[in-house]
Amino acid sequence: MSVKENRRIEFIDLAAQQALIRPKIDAAIARVLDHGGYIMGKEVPELEKQLAEFAGAKYCLSCSNGTDALALVLMAKNIKAGDAVFVPSFTFAASAEVIAWLGATPFFVDILPDSFNMDPASLIQAIAAAKKQGLNPAAIMPVDLFGQPADYDKILPIAEENDMWVLCDSAQGFGGMYHGRKVGSIGLATATSFFPAKPLGCYGDGGAVFTDDKELYDVMVSLRVHGKGDDKYDNVRIGMNGRLDTLQAAILIEKLAIFPDELIKRQRVADHYNNLLENFIVIPKLPKGLHSAWAQYTLTAASNKQRDELQTALKQAGVPSMVYYPKPLHLQTAYKNFPTATGKGLPVCEDLASRVFSLPMHPYLEDETIKYISQSLILAFKKAA
Ligand SMILES: *Cc1c(COP(=O)(O)O)cnc(C)c1O
Repeated sequence: MSVKENRRIEFIDLAAQQALIRPKIDAAIARVLDHGGYIMGKEVPELEKQLAEFAGAKYCLSCSNGTDALALVLMAKNIKAGDAVFVPSFTFAASAEVIAWLGATPFFVDILPDSFNMDPASLIQAIAAAKKQGLNPAAIMPVDLFGQPADYDKILPIAEENDMWVLCDSAQGFGGMYHGRKVGSIGLATATSFFPAKPLGCYGDGGAVFTDDKELYDVMVSLRVHGKGDDKYDNVRIGMNGRLDTLQAAILIEKLAIFPDELIKRQRVADHYNNLLENFIVIPKLPKGLHSAWAQYTLTAASNKQRDELQTALKQAGVPSMVYYPKPLHLQTAYKNFPTATGKGLPVCEDLASRVFSLPMHPYLEDETIKYISQSLILAFKKAA
């Protein structure tokens, strides 16, 4: 097929986006080089203002990366040894890592098979188990996996009933929406990442926290610069170096300008895949009223063996595919001794880790390429049958 012969298919095509806005990026970088304010230059507060507006949050604090964004909230809320923070096991390691950094316990929760997101029933089970183990149920960290917001209508009331707060790990979900509410305006706070491959990415590491809570915001402002008081040589708490580079802020301002259009394009790509593939394989399900940022387009094969066969066939056709995530966190060497909702395995996480795989997904995927990828997959099905 022509697509394979003419052009390599990228899993995430950052070059296509760059080609579109390269002169603006060049000019933005040149402006920073001219004014020389590399640390906390004027682009940083300007970006924060634009991001807060976009997300419908009162405050946005930019920072060094998505992991530090999560850590800033946990540190500001004084999460410590003896506290349990409930987190899905089917996520990137950073979600649980920051909890363990502070000596607290990441308490692993199972997921729902349709959304890959935190299962509220498993969460309830985990909270009861944590109490029995003498832990203090402090906070819930739902993850908006692959770009789809978690089930907040169920999770927020569970948090309230148990006197806990909610930190949304929306490293993959920025740009999404939950029943009319933008990601970034849900729960006590939302953390996101600007890692280049995330829906809104910079050209390096970056992240941000969103909240409506002034007190929380003020403490995070201090934590971001070594726990500063009146200035950085007045240290009122133990903090970190968590700043976003001015250059990355300048780049993000240009990328944010085209982000709304990119979100529409991502939805179009997902719709196109869905139409072509729904009769052959389990496609991602997006409930009514939810908008996904489509960080990943993830399919569920019938078995581990079938996933291997399909991925092999795709590879032979020149189509890259990835498995997010091959191993849930509660089975990872570093995390296997932390507690789970069941006290043993988490069956849905384990099952899906063995069957899911993700197709190329980015706003600039052309119709012809989507067709080629889908047809390659369908051909593999027909061969196997
Ligand atoms: C990417 C990611 C993070 C961490 O973000 P970084 O910017 O890479 O530190 C945290 N949680 C999830 C779910 C992620 O996908």
